[in-house]
Amino acid sequence: MSSEGIFKPQLVGIICNWCCYGGADLAGVSRFQYPPYLNIVRVMCSGRVDMKHIFRAFLNGADGVFVGGCHLGDCHYITEGNYDALNMVQLSKKILELIGVNPQRLRIEWVSAGEGIRYANIMNEFLKQVEGFGPLGKGEGLDENELKVKLNNICKLIPYIKVTEKEKLKVRKIDNDEDHNSLFTLDEVDKLLNEVVSYYIDPAKCQACMTCARRCPADAIISAKGQIHIIDQDKCIKCGTCFEVCPPKFAAGTKLAAGEPVPPPVPEGERTVLRKSKEQAAN
Ligand code: SF4
Ligand code: SF4
Repeated sequence: MSSEGIFKPQLVGIICNWCCYGGADLAGVSRFQYPPYLNIVRVMCSGRVDMKHIFRAFLNGADGVFVGGCHLGDCHYITEGNYDALNMVQLSKKILELIGVNPQRLRIEWVSAGEGIRYANIMNEFLKQVEGFGPLGKGEGLDENELKVKLNNICKLIPYIKVTEKEKLKVRKIDNDEDHNSLFTLDEVDKLLNEVVSYYIDPAKCQACMTCARRCPADAIISAKGQIHIIDQDKCIKCGTCFEVCPPKFAAGTKLAAGEPVPPPVPEGERTVLRKSKEQAAN
């Protein structure tokens, strides 16, 4: 909001180096007018844009987020990162809708380096759209703190969401908007957000082989030689790796269904593992 009380949206544009940034540059040197409130972040490929960038931008006060890449089929990398960006944006829009935020505050477009005028037109149109929506949250009638809590919760769940939806996030070659729009359904995403599993290490089975701690990508397992391993639930990103890699002969990694409480950790000082072989010898 400006000092005169006029709403000036904060827009964040995350755009690829090879095409969209070239388009933005051309718009600049050609003196095409486009919004001055746009904060541009240049990335090498739109496929580099992560859900966390989108949700953090909203959490930090962006009223609109724009993702720009090369036209489909023109990505400069064999990975075709613009499809990753497109799928990720489709999923993010569904999440925004479910938390009560207008999904049109997030927009993805393809702009080549020669399309300066197209870039300027898109940005002017997006600015007008977001101006019409009003400030983030207020425009939707949401309480500011409540929205922050919701966005924060989504940020924490992003690794879990990405792991759970990894197959669809990799989908390629969908060329019409309708198919893209239905890649993730609202029901499916609602279920995903409301049925979040937890992981737990069964202290009676853990043999302190340390495999899970070595493989955990979030450094979320409290690990020490000869000690029962414990998951730090605040750090855990729910990727399920510990569950998958715990050797079947121990099977200590446990997946808890949504809503199932995680048992409290074994107190420090009571975590020494009694080896199964020694245990048997003692009996
Ligand atoms: S699920 Fe297991 S491996 Fe994955 S982050 Fe949590 S503790 Fe680490
Ligand atoms: S992999 Fe299984 S047995 Fe090994 S430390 Fe982790 S939970 Fe314990």
